[in-house]
Amino acid sequence: MKRFFTLLLSFFILINMSSVAYGTEFNDLDNNAKEILLNIKYTRNILFNLLGVELTTETFAEEEIKYDGVVYLTFDDGPVAKFTEPILDTLKANNVKATFFELGQYVNSNPSLTKRVYDEGHTVASHSYSHKKEIYSSFEKFKKEIIDTETAIENATGAKPKFFRPPYGYKLPQNYKDFLAERGYEIILWNCESNDSRSGKLTPEYCLQTVKDTSKNKKEVTVIMHDTYNKQHTVDALQSIIDYFRELNYEFKQYGE
Ligand SMILES: [Zn+2]
Repeated sequence: MKRFFTLLLSFFILINMSSVAYGTEFNDLDNNAKEILLNIKYTRNILFNLLGVELTTETFAEEEIKYDGVVYLTFDDGPVAKFTEPILDTLKANNVKATFFELGQYVNSNPSLTKRVYDEGHTVASHSYSHKKEIYSSFEKFKKEIIDTETAIENATGAKPKFFRPPYGYKLPQNYKDFLAERGYEIILWNCESNDSRSGKLTPEYCLQTVKDTSKNKKEVTVIMHDTYNKQHTVDALQSIIDYFRELNYEFKQYGE
């Protein structure tokens, strides 16, 4: 028992020490470093709460990161290992969280990949089961697509999806929308393109330029990209897209957080 408390005390001191570095040159740090330090602070606050230490606003003045905009990176039509995996690696290396609008059929064929997306802190959302145009041909078909995808995602992650993006950005009839709302879904579209699904040979430079052109002067940006077959250019463009928004001092967000 004594050992446990010694260990706890060491941890406590260590975490507290981080506040020294934290207080001195906080404003000189870049936003990434600020976020890491703020995370340490939150962990420390949780520990203080557990120990019953009273927190005062004086001790823990809130330093806020000021951003110039918000960007949601979204990936549709996956997961497909060859493309989703390097995308996850890049996101992790940059400490960026994104939203993946997945197809139920691919979730079922590779549930462990969907689990990885979920476990790495990204939002797993629904993009229908088959992505076929026929899903809109009858309300019954549409409902089945939603329910089957929901089951696939829930089986893979243990959690129900809360967001849906209609394939082709289809304008849904009211009864379809009502059905989604009743099941707890929010419909998410996009306002920035990478054009990574256009036909022809695409380059990462083209995707980055399209993102730049279509996000111009927008303070809240939702970028649509694809982590599916033949999207090597998306994999290759992602780092430069992240760098672009970071340089513009945008905050990276995911749906549901
Ligand atoms: Zn799609």
